[in-house]
Amino acid sequence: MAADLHLHSNYSDGNWTVVDIINYALNKRISHIAICDHDTISGLHDAITYANSKLKIIPAVEISSRHNLPVNATLDLHILGYFIDCNNENLLNVLANQRLARYNQSKSILDNIQARNSDIKINIDTLTNLKQGYSIGTAHLTKAILKLRPELNLTAIWNEFISNNSNYFVQRQMLSTLEAIQIINEANGIAILAHPGHLGKTLKDILPILIKHGLAGIEVFHPSHNQYLSNYYLKLTQEYNLLVTGGSDCHGPYAEFPPSLGNIILNDNYFQKILNQKF
Ligand SMILES: [Zn+2]
Repeated sequence: MAADLHLHSNYSDGNWTVVDIINYALNKRISHIAICDHDTISGLHDAITYANSKLKIIPAVEISSRHNLPVNATLDLHILGYFIDCNNENLLNVLANQRLARYNQSKSILDNIQARNSDIKINIDTLTNLKQGYSIGTAHLTKAILKLRPELNLTAIWNEFISNNSNYFVQRQMLSTLEAIQIINEANGIAILAHPGHLGKTLKDILPILIKHGLAGIEVFHPSHNQYLSNYYLKLTQEYNLLVTGGSDCHGPYAEFPPSLGNIILNDNYFQKILNQKF
């Protein structure tokens, strides 16, 4: 087997369609992929249809969430849901709400920008189609501003207009982490904490409560983790008897960088343990 369990399509902030992803994965001789779009599973049907029997598609999603700490502070965490039931009504409703919150955040940020920058003529509704289940967010807005300010690059635009340090920032409403984990479990999915690298070793402090609410594993292998962190998270999975996942988090080709799909392949032993949970 050769599984890359973390990919994004243009249903969220990736540059590729699901067809592009599958063609590339087949070329790289990948056997299993999970397209984990942010707060949407709208690409899944097309992916399964197109892949047919040539490639296994694991139904998946990446839910944005906010974890409330006992002190007056929060952490933004991404929760991956694998093997979710894509017809689960509660899941579908929750994801639609999350997408609306993304849209509202981007619209509010754009309103703030336009109030002070008359040359930024963008209509948020033309960026991509919310009604068709696309997840419109700040990544789309950033790319749209780049077209109007070609002298800047994506990072500069992000910092000046979009980031939480910018003058125009508006916070996004999102699910609590414990709710996200619960909703994935209720949809018969396996809830995994995505790329916890930004937490460093403090992950240990919040892990017990996440597990208590149904977290089943950690994305140990991710391009943002160095070997030291991966080893540390691997030890945590052993200590708490958790599943181990990994993936490239490929968003398609980006500027001069080749796509990273297949750069992180999950070891078969870890992948088999995930499959054993479901089959
Ligand atoms: Zn991701």
